[in-house]
Amino acid sequence: MIITDYRSGVSDSPYSTQSLLIVVALVIICLVAGIFIVKKILSSPFRYPYFEMAFDVSGKRNPDIEDYIDKYLIENGFDAIERHHNRIIIWKKSCEQLIQTSKLKKRRANQFAMCIDDDNAFCFSLCRNQTRYRQSNYIKEAYSVSTTVYEDSFDYNWLLSRYRQLQEINFEATLSDYHKKEQRKLMTKQLRDQIAARDNYTCRICGKHMPDGVGLQIDHIIPVSKGGKTVPSNLQVLCSKCNGAKKARIFRPSASPQ
Ligand SMILES: [Zn+2]
Repeated sequence: MIITDYRSGVSDSPYSTQSLLIVVALVIICLVAGIFIVKKILSSPFRYPYFEMAFDVSGKRNPDIEDYIDKYLIENGFDAIERHHNRIIIWKKSCEQLIQTSKLKKRRANQFAMCIDDDNAFCFSLCRNQTRYRQSNYIKEAYSVSTTVYEDSFDYNWLLSRYRQLQEINFEATLSDYHKKEQRKLMTKQLRDQIAARDNYTCRICGKHMPDGVGLQIDHIIPVSKGGKTVPSNLQVLCSKCNGAKKARIFRPSASPQ
């Protein structure tokens, strides 16, 4: 409108209004750009290099992340973990150089310290692939969706100790499978008789007395699958009914891994 007025010469002083508007707009643009640049300079340039790995657990019931890590270490060895650990060391050195040469030394040093997350450097997740369908042009189209059902992170030393423990058992099985096998071997007839006599042939939950031993079961109070040991303090007499109910409670199909 102003331009039309100026051309037709109707307006008295179109220049001042127009140029004022341009100047104000320029100032605003400069301010916004300035704030953006300053923000960019002040924000942290450090990004911690996490190791990330997802395991496909489609169709698996109660998957345990430690089992998957064991299987990964058994199949692939420790090379990738070691390489990534070295990458983190190199990254730290380059960050320290950046801090030394920076004009914002103190701020950068703080940002670097905030960014360090060695305890959670190695991130693992369990994913389920699901097939879903969408309708387009009267045709049913299948597509896959991956959902993370569980994730956890570990430090380098935890993984190294895990690898060494697997090495000790010659990579024969995952640590939990090995533990289960060992603990089952320890369950001798002599030990069963000892526990039955100790508990007076009586179910420790419902009090059912089973002097003839029929239906009498020896139960691991902390299940072997959860790290429980075959030792008298972790064993008890249960009747088959109570033992069945206990197992059903522990291994509910919908239970998510702890
Ligand atoms: Zn009972």
